[in-house]
Order: sequence, then C-alpha cells, then structure tokens
Amino acid sequence: MSRIVIIGAGVVGLSVARAALKRGHQVTILEQGTAPNPQAASFDLHRMIRYPYGSAQGYTRMVTQAFGAWDRVWADLGTTHFENTGAIAISLEAGDYAQKTLDSFKAVGQPHEVLSRDGVEKLCPHLTLPEGAWGLVSFPGGPLFASRIVTELAQWVRDHGGVIEHDCRVAHVDLEAGIATRADGSQVEGDLLLVAAGAWLPGLMPDRFGDASVYRQGLCYVEPPAQYEQSWRDAPAIACIGDHTGYTLPDRRGAGLKIGYSAHRRLARPEVDGFGSDLDSESSAILGAFKPYFRDFEAYRPTRIQVGYYVLDASRRFKVEQAGRGLVVTNCDGQMFKFGPLLGERIIGMFAGEESAADLAHWAAGY
Ligand SMILES: Cc1cc2nc3c(=O)[nH]c(=O)nc-3n(C[C@H](O)[C@H](O)[C@H](O)COP(=O)(O)OP(=O)(O)OC[C@H]3O[C@@H](n4cnc5c(N)ncnc54)[C@H](O)[C@@H]3O)c2cc1C
Repeated sequence: MSRIVIIGAGVVGLSVARAALKRGHQVTILEQGTAPNPQAASFDLHRMIRYPYGSAQGYTRMVTQAFGAWDRVWADLGTTHFENTGAIAISLEAGDYAQKTLDSFKAVGQPHEVLSRDGVEKLCPHLTLPEGAWGLVSFPGGPLFASRIVTELAQWVRDHGGVIEHDCRVAHVDLEAGIATRADGSQVEGDLLLVAAGAWLPGLMPDRFGDASVYRQGLCYVEPPAQYEQSWRDAPAIACIGDHTGYTLPDRRGAGLKIGYSAHRRLARPEVDGFGSDLDSESSAILGAFKPYFRDFEAYRPTRIQVGYYVLDASRRFKVEQAGRGLVVTNCDGQMFKFGPLLGERIIGMFAGEESAADLAHWAAGY
C-alpha cells in the first residue's frame, strides 16, 4: 500500500483518489475550500462531453476511452449522471471547426451523420442558419452533470477510506520529495504527490508555474422563448457554430439551458478577481454572439452567470509533469471535465508501472 497525497478536490483530484483507493492505496486529499468546492472549475450544473474536436484526432479518440471510464464511475456510484443528447458541430464555411471535425471522424472511424442546413433546422427549430451551413451529428455526447458527479465522487472517496481535509490550504509543495506543507506549517508526505490545483496552480507553485495563463470564463444560463423550450431540451448539445466559439448545453434533469462563448474569456486570477459578475453586461456579451443564429433572439431571458477559471496555453494540450515523487496536472483548459476519470485511472496505472510518466504525458497531450 502506498501513500497518495492529492492537492485539490476537483474532478482530477477526486478521480485520482478513486482510482488509487480501488488499488488499495492510502489516500489523503488536501482541499482549500469545501469538498467539492463550488468555486472549482469542476463545479457547475453541467459540462459537455462530445466527440467533435476539430483536427485534434488524439482527443477525438480519447473521448471513446473517456466514455469507458465514465461507465466505471457510474458502476461505482450506482447511478448515471449523463444524458446522451448527442452533439452537433455546425459548419458555416469551408475549413472551419466542423469541417476539420468531419475529416478527423473519417480518419479515426468515428460514426456520424451529416445533415443539410434544412436537416439541422428541423432537428433544432430554434436555430436559423445561413445558406451553405450544414451539421455533423455524433453520439454519444451531451451533458455530464458535473456538480452532482464531484459531490458523489467526494462521498465515494470518504466511504472507501479516503481522507479529505477540507478548508486546508496547501502553502508549499516540494515535488521531488513528495511533501505538501499546509498553511499552518504542518506537512504531509506521499509516495505520490499529485498536484491538481486547477487555476490556483500559479499561486501555489510560483517558481515553476507562475507564468501560466489563467483565464476567467463566464457561462450564461438562459430561459428560451416558450415555443422553443422543448426543442432546446430535445436537441443535441451544440459543440460549435463555425469558428464562432459558441456552444450550448441542453436543459436536462433540471440543469437549465446554458450558453457558452469561449471568446468571452479574459486573463484573470480567481484569488484576485473573484467570482462576481454583472448579469446585464456579461449576458449581452455571451448571448449577443448568438444573435444571428437564434430564432426570436430578443425573447431569450438570461438568469445567471456561472464564473469559472482555468489554465490554458496556445498548445491547447493537457500537461502532466513529473518531478521525483510529484506529478502536476495542468493546462486543463475548458476541456478536462470529460477526461477526469480516465486521466485518474491512467495516473494510478502509471504509478503502478504500467506506463512511463513520459508516455502518460505524451498521451495526455493528445498525440
Ligand atoms: C467555464 C468553464 C467551462 C468548461 N466547460 C467544459 C466542458 O464543457 N467540458 C469539459 O470537459 N470541460 C469543461 N471545462 C473544463 C473543466 O471543468 C476543468 O478542466 C476541470 O474541471 C478541471 O478540474 P481540476 O480538478 O483540474 O480543477 P478544479 O476543478 O478547479 O479543482 C481544483 C481544486 O484545487 C483546490 N486547490 C487549489 N489550490 C489549492 C491549495 N493551495 N490547497 C488546497 N486546495 C487547493 C481548489 O479549491 C479546487 O477545488 C470548463 C471549465 C470552465 C471553467
């Protein structure tokens, strides 16, 4: 039995904890907030899992592995926190994200259906698309009910002997030695020390990660016009509309319809900029970007903004860095939720010697 110490009770930390407990290790999670922490990137009513990944064939293939890992999570939790609505990528012009996704689907053998513009508007009667638009539908895909998942994962970890120290901020990390120093000066040592601190990583390890780019992103929950309530609920999640960076998650299981617009992000730090938002201005920036594509646009009513933070660099590739007994997971972007349980299993597999840290890092980077 080895000692696994984990900093952060987000989807990554909890997934590593679960995988470690299943292999008989002793697990301690150190979490600065409650566990789960509502300010963590992993905490929102839903996060999307979807096959469309543009030209990133490695991540397209990884989604199949991720679904396998989620099935093992559902078996452990005794329930399924996912709705298979499918996902649609909408193309507006040659060479855009949907077109690249179609090329990737063909290359990796991912089943899909191509719809004409009329076909997309029939499936999604709340949309109005320009001439020449077409859609690419793939299954499975849709909302993972994130906050329910991390809440139940934390409980599963506790029920299976893991220790979660909440309100326990780690102030210093010695990666090589596998030692985390709590804010009160006490220390805990692991045979594996996993740092899964999300957007707080640069503050925690300024020497090594102080330059990492942390972004704040707001997502907008909306009430659609009454005549489109049901069609939004029934339609696939929208993964992209051209290169517009917009996406939507359907209102299933009471989670609400959520609109994201990735271009609406800015460099910021959670510990400095906080979690407040101005509903009027932020909803205009997010929802406004969809004006050309939503029928009866003026009738949409924004209800709240969900604020989250993540580390992201130009590579758009996850990073898993090893040094001595320590392992750091970062660059999780707006992408990691879907891969959390899979990454957790791979990390503990690597610790057991099933693959090298270099191979794990290469795989996580989507190659
Ligand atoms: C707005 C937004 C939309 C997204 N959409 C999607 C999506 O649709 N699909 C998808 O797959 N992914 C999506 N993501 C990405 C995904 O949510 C994140 O990549 C993932 O949740 C990161 O998990 P994590 O465990 O690494 O980090 P987090 O969930 O942020 O957890 C880190 C934890 O570490 C704790 N911590 C930090 N520092 C310390 C310290 N010093 N001491 C103790 N504890 C500490 C924090 O309190 C926190 O609980 C989105 C992210 C955001 C923000």
